[in-house]
Amino acid sequence: MNTRTTKDWQAADASHHLHPFTDFKSLAGKGSRIITRADNIYLWDSEGHKLLDAMSGLWCVNVGYGRRELIDAATKQLETLPFYNSFFQTTTPPAIELAELLAQVTPPQFKHVFFSGSGSEGNDTIVRMVRRYWDLKGQPERSVIISRHNAYHGSTMAGASLGGMSGMHEQGGLPIPGIVHIEQPFWYESDRRLSRDEFGLKAARALEQKILEIGADKVAAFIGEPVQGAGGVIVPPATYWPEIQRICDRHGILLVSDEVICGFGRTGQWFGCETFGYRPDLMTFAKGVTSGYIPLGGVMVGERVAKVLIEEGGEFAHGYTYSGHPVACAVGIANIKLIQREGLVERVRTEIGPYLAETFAALAEHPLVGEVQTCGMMGALQLVKDKASGEMFDGKLEVGMVCRAHCFGNGLIMRAVGDRMIVAPPLVMTKAQIDEMAVLIRKCLDLTQQELKQRGWW
Ligand SMILES: *Cc1c(COP(=O)(O)O)cnc(C)c1O
Repeated sequence: MNTRTTKDWQAADASHHLHPFTDFKSLAGKGSRIITRADNIYLWDSEGHKLLDAMSGLWCVNVGYGRRELIDAATKQLETLPFYNSFFQTTTPPAIELAELLAQVTPPQFKHVFFSGSGSEGNDTIVRMVRRYWDLKGQPERSVIISRHNAYHGSTMAGASLGGMSGMHEQGGLPIPGIVHIEQPFWYESDRRLSRDEFGLKAARALEQKILEIGADKVAAFIGEPVQGAGGVIVPPATYWPEIQRICDRHGILLVSDEVICGFGRTGQWFGCETFGYRPDLMTFAKGVTSGYIPLGGVMVGERVAKVLIEEGGEFAHGYTYSGHPVACAVGIANIKLIQREGLVERVRTEIGPYLAETFAALAEHPLVGEVQTCGMMGALQLVKDKASGEMFDGKLEVGMVCRAHCFGNGLIMRAVGDRMIVAPPLVMTKAQIDEMAVLIRKCLDLTQQELKQRGWW
């Protein structure tokens, strides 16, 4: 198998494999890039090119590639008990031990977990669970869930509906009923007449307006990512989340934090809600819980909800074959212990996150860059047409994609969301590796600037 050529792989791929979020016809014309191996923060493709993976795979390989502890945990569990379920009053030791460990590392209101196989499934569980909660409370009419435009909460029917991606809503009759969206806290995209803090309050108060419009007695929950990830690493003003908390408390609405990206240290605390100062009733997690070595997700259930589900519940008619999968849970345990042993959360907060922030602040000098934002080990560079006025490029030009192509061509994986270039590197990255990444970013920004000039766009 491994002696196949790139052309051969690409032909078989185009013949049989439909990729996620992909224009199938356009990809078949070009051929996929085949990633064949990885180590630490680097990937290699089938042509032998080395790439610096500044996206941690897909926001998940937080401890880097090739970690022996995780590989051994999976191998050992595969040998002992590769699968058993947690249905019908059974379960397995890894599921119990991971539940115990999650109760320790999450904020104090969380003592219970419901496992899923992914973040999307976790958010499906959220929809089922918050509606179940209000049913049990005798308020079944409280069923509406409020989310935000440009949010990402996954790709199942419920996940994509909770998300606020217009391109996803255009296909398949989404959102499903009972899910509505308010504005996102994206200051740079606003007219910028308000200060960031004033804008944060205004964006949060859109939640209160929506609640009053619908009627508080019909609203079940509000869901948000601490920092919008797939939406473009949009770091909200400091005023935003405390105001959201106040509004949810005032109207008795459940607050849900989608921690699929921000969880497990990425923001410099174990969970993003701790960085931004709010106290969710429920949290979705996935990605970083196993550093992506094997699929796992779930929902942390706060005592307010758990108490009602447990004491007044009867059967909760919901679950997945792979809820609490023993191999996934064994890897989750090994991953969390590794994060603890290496002090990665504190490292992000006090050492490597601040260094990424400094590095990005220096990149803000580049003529193409209108603003930079960082939070822990996440960063965004907003490409603009006019640095002084902050005028954006015409979206149709797809300037972000021009830059992304230069990144790939120069050995750097950096993602484009519109004209926002984003990174979410592994939490184990060294300062020297951040310097190495910055050299590549600067080079790609220069190449992008040159190309835009040649095309007459800049
Ligand atoms: C990736 C992501 C999801 C979906 O997780 P999957 O494992 O892809 O289903 C949900 N929420 C957020 C915030 C994400 O970034």
